[in-house]
Amino acid sequence: MLAGACLHLGGTRGVRWIIRPSRPVAARRGPSLCRVGALASGGALASASISAIAPPVREIDPGLAREFARALGPWFAAHQRDLEWRRTRDPYSIWVSEIMLQQTRVDTVRSYYRDFLRRFPDVGTLAAADEESVLQAWSGLGYYRRARLLHRGARYVYGELGGEVPATAEALRKVPGIGRYTAGAIASIAFDRPEPLVDGNVARVLSRLLDIEDPKLQGADAAVHWGWARAILEAGSPRVLAQALMELGAMVCTPKGPRCGECPTQPSCRAKAAGRESLIPAPKKRSAPTEHELWAVALARRGRILMERRPAEGLLASLWCLPLMPRAADGQRRPRPAEVKAATGIQVRTVKVDAEAEPVRHVFSHRVWKLWPCTAAVVGDLEAPPGMMWIAAGERPSGGIPRVTEKVLARLGY
Ligand code: SF4
Repeated sequence: MLAGACLHLGGTRGVRWIIRPSRPVAARRGPSLCRVGALASGGALASASISAIAPPVREIDPGLAREFARALGPWFAAHQRDLEWRRTRDPYSIWVSEIMLQQTRVDTVRSYYRDFLRRFPDVGTLAAADEESVLQAWSGLGYYRRARLLHRGARYVYGELGGEVPATAEALRKVPGIGRYTAGAIASIAFDRPEPLVDGNVARVLSRLLDIEDPKLQGADAAVHWGWARAILEAGSPRVLAQALMELGAMVCTPKGPRCGECPTQPSCRAKAAGRESLIPAPKKRSAPTEHELWAVALARRGRILMERRPAEGLLASLWCLPLMPRAADGQRRPRPAEVKAATGIQVRTVKVDAEAEPVRHVFSHRVWKLWPCTAAVVGDLEAPPGMMWIAAGERPSGGIPRVTEKVLARLGY
């Protein structure tokens, strides 16, 4: 690679990349492909360390992959966090942990993981459970679609595969809810197979190790990362190296301020050598989340309020909430009884709002809810309509209660 040219054609496992400097050579802060050749042949810097002058790398280099693997294995053995799902090789437990860890912090997952496995200790128990009890066990963890898909996946494995979680990424990907990353995680961690796994953390580590400056090649879906991840896993114990890559991204090669001084792969890291570790990956443009102002209506009668099950599709699908209705952007003081009737179909006498109270704020990935709790007194005796149920303070419907609902109930004293 040191004698590299400005235009390089590389290929791995049927994927080919044309590698060009991402901006003009003169503008690059570190050594470029062209300059490297000149420096090396000029002799003045020929004795500089390889890593200090090495160009960005995309083509799979088994020698370099071995270098990474040799550094990562012992480091992981010495520095890994003690996490419950790392003490097992049971593929079902690892599957559960990987689904829970998607978009969720490790500290949040710990207790859910323990309780979930206590309740559903194996794939057969989960397959036999009804969806309500699965959602109940998931309550508060968010992204409930994951729970539904995990449940569907368990039913598939139990019904179609005799309860055996498959060992290969290819077979795992046929299970509902298991995507490319999760398949790689289960196959490598549970079965010690060199099946790659690349999420945002691993993509960031590899982008820096290889000094990939092109934002289009920095994400978890870039073929270059999957090729390299496989090569690294093939260079040692896949079980150890898969977790080591994830751990390095989570604890050392962090998005902001990577701790290169503590990094086992620093001697081989191209971005560090070029001084670009803080510039890779390029910052993403995020669109601002949209804000939604809603009334959360507690339809009340004799100390009890009505909970409503949300539709089976969409945000918080099938979970229990209070009926919601839009609040006018101009700061409407309280909804009128006729508006409550129009939104819920239920006749109410009066609507009360605590004028001093701030709304309950809840942030989803792309939207923010500002919920204004209000209490509407229901006229007459009313049986709970289909999809609704009366609850007293401290009572909860069985099935999932999202955290946002708990926040509103707490505000209302329920
Ligand atoms: S040396 Fe720094 S930038 Fe490179 S992999 Fe390690 S922590 Fe990340």
